Amino acid sequence: MYEANQLVGKTLAEVAKVIKPGVTTNQLTRIAEEFIRDNGAEPTFKGYPNQDGDPFPAALCTSVNEMVVHGFPNDIPLKDGDIVSVDCGTLLNGFNGDSAYTFCVGEVAPETRELLKVTRDSLYLGIEKAVAGNRLGDVGFAIQNHCESHGYGVVREFVGHGIGRDMHEDPAVPNYGRRGNGTLLKKGMCIAIEPMITMGSRHLVMENDGWGVRTIDRKPAAHFEHTIAVYAGKARILSSFDYIHEVLGDREF
Ligand code: MG
Ligand code: MG
Repeated sequence: MYEANQLVGKTLAEVAKVIKPGVTTNQLTRIAEEFIRDNGAEPTFKGYPNQDGDPFPAALCTSVNEMVVHGFPNDIPLKDGDIVSVDCGTLLNGFNGDSAYTFCVGEVAPETRELLKVTRDSLYLGIEKAVAGNRLGDVGFAIQNHCESHGYGVVREFVGHGIGRDMHEDPAVPNYGRRGNGTLLKKGMCIAIEPMITMGSRHLVMENDGWGVRTIDRKPAAHFEHTIAVYAGKARILSSFDYIHEVLGDREF
């Protein structure tokens, strides 16, 4: 699980190296797919079926601005001031990695950078609660409470998940909840925690492609995800943003 997830972190760093105005999300996914395969893994998202059995077409989900998750990569150049959420999955030696990061393209408005920072902080607050003996409601509450205290919306229709030999396993891991409620966390459980947070309304619209999801008010959304293993006292984060942060340096929001 660690190896697969570290590879996702390194793949997202490869993507981070090239994100700038003028680059297309199709270029990003090609770089990611080649890097994943060069490292002996499979890009799990490519060909992954939705509820209608329609396969996802690419190695990355690239969701720009008001797109929340599951955006198809395309040939539209990224513009100065955009944000792009990049979600990546790998299958390595029979185990799955899954992690996501929202990047700034050029100069991004301060209020949008704040959305990214609060969302990423909420992920770590959720991870702090993901310890043996706690419940998933403790994790969801921590994320929801932090984001809503900043006036943001917490997406309900899409949630995190158990992960292991399959990318999506039980239990569902909501980004909202009540303390003391929900699935009991036990040592050795691996879960993907992935807050999807909106600047305005939390309500969503699905695109005609049957995959992409955007905010109903077209205000921006952020998405950060780590895969973690539950232990007593403190979770182990199996994925990593360190490789990304090495690339971004002080360009980080
Ligand atoms: Mg993901
Ligand atoms: Mg996930």
